[in-house]
Amino acid sequence: MGEKINRREIPSVTKLVGHRVGKELIQEFGRQEFLLECRKTLESIRNNSEDYWGVLIPENILEKIKRNLNRKSTKKLKPVINCTGTILHTNLGRAPLSMEVGEVLKNISVGYSNLEFDLETGQRGTRTAGIEEQLNTLLGVEDCAIVNNNAAAVLLVLMTMAKGKEVIISRGQLVEIGGSFRIPEIMEQSGSILREVGATNKVHLKDYENAITENTCAIMRVHPSNYRVTGFTKEVSLAELRELSIKYKIPLIDDLGSGTIVELDKWGVYDEPTVNQSVKIGGDIVTFSGDKLLGGPQCGIIVGKREYIQKIKKHPLMRALRCDKLVLTALQYTLEMYKQDRFTKIPLYKFLERNTVELHRLAKDITKEIPQGTYEIQEDYAYVGGGALPTQEIPTVIIKFKGDYSAKKLSQAFREQEKPIIGRINQDQFILDLKAVFEEDVPYIQRITTKIWGDING
Ligand SMILES: *Cc1c(COP(=O)(O)O)cnc(C)c1O
Repeated sequence: MGEKINRREIPSVTKLVGHRVGKELIQEFGRQEFLLECRKTLESIRNNSEDYWGVLIPENILEKIKRNLNRKSTKKLKPVINCTGTILHTNLGRAPLSMEVGEVLKNISVGYSNLEFDLETGQRGTRTAGIEEQLNTLLGVEDCAIVNNNAAAVLLVLMTMAKGKEVIISRGQLVEIGGSFRIPEIMEQSGSILREVGATNKVHLKDYENAITENTCAIMRVHPSNYRVTGFTKEVSLAELRELSIKYKIPLIDDLGSGTIVELDKWGVYDEPTVNQSVKIGGDIVTFSGDKLLGGPQCGIIVGKREYIQKIKKHPLMRALRCDKLVLTALQYTLEMYKQDRFTKIPLYKFLERNTVELHRLAKDITKEIPQGTYEIQEDYAYVGGGALPTQEIPTVIIKFKGDYSAKKLSQAFREQEKPIIGRINQDQFILDLKAVFEEDVPYIQRITTKIWGDING
């Protein structure tokens, strides 16, 4: 054990504040944050004095404070660069909004808006009237409601339509989406009774029909989103379920998950049902997310028959699940882009549309200052992500780094940058996938790549 330090040797807060480094840290992190960290650090020196024996000069203490402040700041939300090859990355904020939506958001967020004010009459207005009208026209539906996310949408629909009653659903569709959202658990929460039919891999129309009793209040279909059953399988199509629902006068609920409005075949993405198809075939109620494949903000959209939507909107939980003005603004202006046929400016579609020739160009740009032979540019497959289309591979171009250094270390070095670059590791090699990289970020990635390459080889 070291000797106890003389308390008088510990620099005062005033001294640290007045120090050149202290001033810089105040500039960067704010006075309050800095002072908080100063007091904490000095306190810990007093309590564990032997660790600091002999190093009690302000420079060393400020260095430690700086490290703590930096570590804290990685916990703050901030922009990162997505080089994972998954366009709608659940851990990276799913869908980026389009630049023009971002501009509107900026204006709306720092000032007042007509959120609940009717500019024509000068009276109180409803916050979602305009946007609902827009959605109804765009999707050809009778009515709609907007809530915080699709999980909330499903919960609200079931609470309104199925509390205390039975909902028929195929065993193969009792899915878990993203950890905490499980269809059986949501049903339980809503107070509805799960009536599962069929086997995991196969379900027939007669399974549904046999399960109908006077206590049945809905037939539900859930898009399996993040997994696929292949091989010896059978599902009942929405059209068949529709016939059944008409025959027995039972509403049909379709949880689509992703809100695809346009067909994706053109970009090599197949078999994803669109909202319009689902609505046309006749889900009485269709639920989907505002960001997964729609490219708007995260929210839950419920569309369908007016009689049900009206009930849903009157449910007491509606108020608790409603969206704030920023989400509504982002959704409204994203929908506008579809209406005016400008949706390919939404990042998701921009990325889908970019071909491998362009991606090769970006890869060349990024690697232009690192020596040949230390990396490889290759074509590979990327994914749409966001729990959608798990098996659909879309073409991409990747940069693979060769050498003796560990992929983990390299990955960390890219992550530790001011604007962190998140790549992926495959077979112990670090990879930058360019599928979901914004063109504007390419010069930055080039600079960082060159710098890191220099550090590890220098
Ligand atoms: C993603 C998804 C949900 C949950 O949507 P969130 O917007 O993440 O709440 C529910 N159902 C299906 C089928 C999904 O794919």
